[in-house]
Amino acid sequence: MRATLAIALVAFATSLPTSLHAQANYDTVQVRSAALGGGVHVLFGAGGNIGVSVGDDAVFVIDDQFAPLTPKILAAIRALSDKPVKFVVNTHWHFDHTGGNENMGKAGALIVAHDNVRKRMSTEQFMAALNRREPPSPRAALPVVTFNDGVTFHINGDSVAATHVAPAHTDGDAVVHFLKANVVHMGDVFNNAGFPFVDLSSGGSVHGVIAAADKVYATTNDATKIIPGHGQVTDRARLKLWRDAIVAVRDGVQREVRAGRSVDQVLALKLAAPYEKEWAGGHERFVRAVFEELSRR
Ligand SMILES: [Zn+2]
Repeated sequence: MRATLAIALVAFATSLPTSLHAQANYDTVQVRSAALGGGVHVLFGAGGNIGVSVGDDAVFVIDDQFAPLTPKILAAIRALSDKPVKFVVNTHWHFDHTGGNENMGKAGALIVAHDNVRKRMSTEQFMAALNRREPPSPRAALPVVTFNDGVTFHINGDSVAATHVAPAHTDGDAVVHFLKANVVHMGDVFNNAGFPFVDLSSGGSVHGVIAAADKVYATTNDATKIIPGHGQVTDRARLKLWRDAIVAVRDGVQREVRAGRSVDQVLALKLAAPYEKEWAGGHERFVRAVFEELSRR
């Protein structure tokens, strides 16, 4: 019993490195911000990167990490603006991006997300790759406004387009584009700290991850600042390198699946190893997910 629990905890702790280490002790987490231009800022704490737009109208926020961090997040926002937080957009349903929803909603923000974010947060979810069961969220944490294809916010002198992409990290992903500020928040469709987590239990697909990267590349320019769900802010040149690494490993797994190899045989090939230096995390989880997806008939 104890051994099983220990294994489960190890799997849990290594699965989402930037979020779950910190979960043990939020007191030590510091939330720091960086300006990206045009009134857009990124907040780094524990969990998914937060996007913030400030200006004459109100504060607009993308993702809200974990509930215990809300006071620190709000303090970081207060250092940028004294306007109320009017909107919070969730890039997807995962707990390290939506954990502050209830607090933010109670503080007066309108929570907005893709239809499937509300659907998944409303019911118990089981994330097989993490062996993690997530209970339904309280009503106050659920998105109040949901969209199918997309929605545009006209705020702080900018047009902010939240667009659903075909199933990628999950089946409820949104990419948020500040058209004037020239900043894109991709949520976990882009993980600049490692290989992507293709959450098959949440309807994700490796093909969607690649398609979303292609779409963002095609709709941005070399000056665009790209906020990933995890890792440092970057540009589309690095997004392209990451996308090419994903394609190379996916194609390698596809080749091996066609050749009838087992998942253990494919893992032993260490197909993601050439990218270890740039994107160190999540290799095994990625290969397992791609193997599973490509083995489906
Ligand atoms: Zn996620």
